Amino acid sequence: MTFDKAIRLIRENGMKRTPSREALLRLFASDGRYLSAADVRQALAYEHPAMSLDTIYRNLSSFAELGILEETELGGERKFRMHCDRDGHHHHFICMECGRTEELDLCPMDEAAGLLPGFTIEDHKFEVYGRCPDCAVAK
Ligand SMILES: [Zn+2]
Ligand SMILES: [Zn+2]
Ligand SMILES: [Zn+2]
Repeated sequence: MTFDKAIRLIRENGMKRTPSREALLRLFASDGRYLSAADVRQALAYEHPAMSLDTIYRNLSSFAELGILEETELGGERKFRMHCDRDGHHHHFICMECGRTEELDLCPMDEAAGLLPGFTIEDHKFEVYGRCPDCAVAK
């Protein structure tokens, strides 16, 4: 998801294009990692000191509803990143330390479906958590 595409989506959904929303989307467009509302506030504190955690949280939730951001829960905290642009079904590895994400070109459902004869599978989630090589070295 690019910044321009995200702006188009929020306007199509009747949300106003405000400087805070632009700043949020620019941050996510330039940073591929998963960020919590607190991470976002820290990153934007200098440029947008008046943006409250509450405002950030509300906007991130709306962006996630519109499919602009992807959301996950890490260590009991909601975290967000720009929606993956890649075509084709795939899954993600997520670094629990820095939020870095890597794509996994495999789907465990290919195997699991065989274990549920007669059942119709509508959807599934699969995420792998751990430490990226940089964070593994730092520990
Ligand atoms: Zn992806
Ligand atoms: Zn990492
Ligand atoms: Zn899958």
